[in-house]
Amino acid sequence: MDSDWNLRRELCEIGRLVYEKGLVGGTDGNISARVLGDRLLISPSGSCLGMLEPADLVLIDQAGRVITGRGKPSSERWMHIAAYAERPDVMAAIHAHPPATVAFTVAGIEMDPCALPEVILAFGRVPVTAYATPATTEGAVVVRELIRRHDALVLDRHGSITVGKSLRDAFFKLEKLEHGAQTMLMAHQLGQTRRLPPEEIAKLGALREAMGIGPADEIASACLPPGTRIPRTGPSGERY
Ligand SMILES: [Zn+2]
Repeated sequence: MDSDWNLRRELCEIGRLVYEKGLVGGTDGNISARVLGDRLLISPSGSCLGMLEPADLVLIDQAGRVITGRGKPSSERWMHIAAYAERPDVMAAIHAHPPATVAFTVAGIEMDPCALPEVILAFGRVPVTAYATPATTEGAVVVRELIRRHDALVLDRHGSITVGKSLRDAFFKLEKLEHGAQTMLMAHQLGQTRRLPPEEIAKLGALREAMGIGPADEIASACLPPGTRIPRTGPSGERY
């Protein structure tokens, strides 16, 4: 077997976790990883992510053509290909159907981006894409621009895509996204949600930037009054 064997095994392990944690059902969802030469290993169409074997995975090129593999590559491969094309830093991508995350879009309720500090720190903001018919090239169209600035996107009435520097990284982002959505859902069920105060939001934005996770601007535009400036924090904690 090829030199990608360890990566194939890791992809199958992550697939099992995604399935067992209920982040997909049946044969939904797909996972991919970038390999040398800008080729992608991707789960085959119609497969259950919880039951993948290393030899099942399909190796494709950036045009979606099969290089090796018996099965058909996932029908959502265009969305994955778009993510890798836009983000040279991305090494793995997971498309899943996290239930609470998707429920907010079905209900037409915005998941308040200014309530959970750990979610703000990790993602800044998680945009919801326009609706796209699943398993078509429309997925690539709605993802392409937003994925340039975000590691997690919610696909309207459908699911999510999370990207990362490794399969684990993309998986942890998926899990964190859904965990945040479940927490917000419970808060809605309890009857109210509360935003963090602006000064705490600003601190999280500065921290996010100082830790090198991502820019603070998205948080400011989503949660703070127009014109609010988030102070930058230097390596020694100095503000400027
Ligand atoms: Zn899907």
